Amino acid sequence: MIHWTAEQLDAFVQHLHAESYEVIGPVIRDGAVTYDAMEELPVGYGDEQEAGRYRLTRRGDLSRFGYNLGPSTWKQFLSPPSETLFHVREDLIHPVVPEATKRAFIGVRACEMAAIEVQDRVFLQGDYREHRYEQRRQQLFIVAVNCSQAAATCFCTANNDGPAVRSGADLVLTEVNPAQPWYLVEAKSDLAKALVSKVGGSPATDEQLDQAHAAVEAAAGQISRQLPRAGLREALFEALEHSHWDAVANRCLSCGNCTQVCPTCFCFTTREEADLMNDEVSHRRVWDSCFTEMHSYTTGGPIHRKTRSRYRQWLTHKLASWEDQFGVSGCTGCGRCISWCPVGIDLTEEVQILRKTK
Ligand code: SF4
Ligand code: SF4
Repeated sequence: MIHWTAEQLDAFVQHLHAESYEVIGPVIRDGAVTYDAMEELPVGYGDEQEAGRYRLTRRGDLSRFGYNLGPSTWKQFLSPPSETLFHVREDLIHPVVPEATKRAFIGVRACEMAAIEVQDRVFLQGDYREHRYEQRRQQLFIVAVNCSQAAATCFCTANNDGPAVRSGADLVLTEVNPAQPWYLVEAKSDLAKALVSKVGGSPATDEQLDQAHAAVEAAAGQISRQLPRAGLREALFEALEHSHWDAVANRCLSCGNCTQVCPTCFCFTTREEADLMNDEVSHRRVWDSCFTEMHSYTTGGPIHRKTRSRYRQWLTHKLASWEDQFGVSGCTGCGRCISWCPVGIDLTEEVQILRKTK
């Protein structure tokens, strides 16, 4: 493991540009930390979060990763919100082949890395592989960051998905001492080792290893929300007729925000759009949400007509039947659905009530 200064980290980002990577990372936009194509890492930003609340803050330090999570997720680059799959012209299908872009994600947190691995199971395992996702995934270089602070909405420790990155990244950084930051650098792949060697760095000392470890431990210690997983699947299946679903439905707007910001939700629908001259029809895939009426439409009409049924479907899928489908939980504890729910519905609280009473 080696040690980088902040300047060396910034130089590494520039090196990725020079190596023709499309660099995607934190960008300050619309009062939030969002993910998009970036030139350099923003400095000194943080955030405050609570149920139904997000505020971008200035930390007054030189941290590059002093924020937690914003509304963006990496899924928007691996499985875009709207994508044309093919056009039909003169009775012929013309597939749209996405450009082969070499990409680097910078600043992927532990819960987000776990979420990417959850989506890998959805799109790459089983009988049907989603070849667009596969192509993007194969060309991806991931720079992950162990968290040195946690938001009030985080609960990644509930499933051991954070705050330390477990697996899957090419390079893992830990930011230490935000006032004058330095970085512990762990190159996990051969590609990462080759790229890191261009920037240099000095071997990390035992003291630096201890400091980095303590920073991540401190983040774990800040996590207050809990979502105990033992027996959760069974408890939710037993609670299908619980009266609390009505109480949630009285608050829930069925807006679908929770599904759009969730890094593991993957539902999509397809649309056909004709051009004005009716010469061409485009077949488009767009993100969908189990909170829309048409999501559960079958020949007899929508199955989930009421919000009660939609919220119950979302929560029990996420935390229970997802395990039956994909072998893991559909929740990595990022807390986004808590912060970005306009009425502050908090799945950790709802589950507590569903488990305790009838
Ligand atoms: S369900 Fe909520 S906390 Fe869990 S991964 Fe999705 S957005 Fe994050
Ligand atoms: S739980 Fe919140 S974010 Fe999700 S659909 Fe209901 S109101 Fe919208």
